Amino acid sequence: MRLLVVEDEPGISEWVRQGLTEFGYAVDVAEDGEDGLHFALSAEYDALILDIMLPGMDGLELMQTLRNMGHKTPILMLTARDTIDDRVKGLNTGADDYLVKPFAFPELLARINALLRRPPLQQQGSVLRVADLEMDTAKKSVKRSGQLIDLRPREYAVLEYLMRHPDQVLTRTQIGEHVWNFDYYHESNVVDVYIGYLRRKIDQDAPYPLIQTVRGMGYRLAAEETT
Ligand code: CA
Repeated sequence: MRLLVVEDEPGISEWVRQGLTEFGYAVDVAEDGEDGLHFALSAEYDALILDIMLPGMDGLELMQTLRNMGHKTPILMLTARDTIDDRVKGLNTGADDYLVKPFAFPELLARINALLRRPPLQQQGSVLRVADLEMDTAKKSVKRSGQLIDLRPREYAVLEYLMRHPDQVLTRTQIGEHVWNFDYYHESNVVDVYIGYLRRKIDQDAPYPLIQTVRGMGYRLAAEETT
């Protein structure tokens, strides 16, 4: 899952970026509203975290601009306690939410998970299944045919994206955009490299492969044996 943070205070944006990265999110940071708009229009983010008080275009204008352009990406607004007004309170409907500074990191994580409609980390029953492959998103564990598979965080993130879209052809760009931030994926074959790692861990010793290459298009995680 890829997130954009628009925040002009480097101390806060870095703390948020680092914390979310540790939880497996790909995070880009923009320092003002104009850059934020440019970033938001340049990649497929799963959610945006916008500070309201920004130099130039503020967070509310940025959100309004995106909404006017038809963007439906969930947005979490960050606001200082003394700037909460009716406009901000009015955001608290549907997919959008706001958080008052200062906030604790687990609170931010909980709000983002809620926006992404992911079950909370402690919650039971958050298991994704594709054929005999199982991912427990609460425990961050993966099993194939009941055998535990040890994945590194990026491998896990790529697999989670594939498992949330079984039987669909996903392009390298789609996979890259949802798993890496701008620092990583644009100039490299990093998606192919990570698919290679996953194949070795998930498919190599299994009776049939789940990760399929779709020539000229990308990859597909097959729910059933097709060969
Ligand atoms: Ca600010």
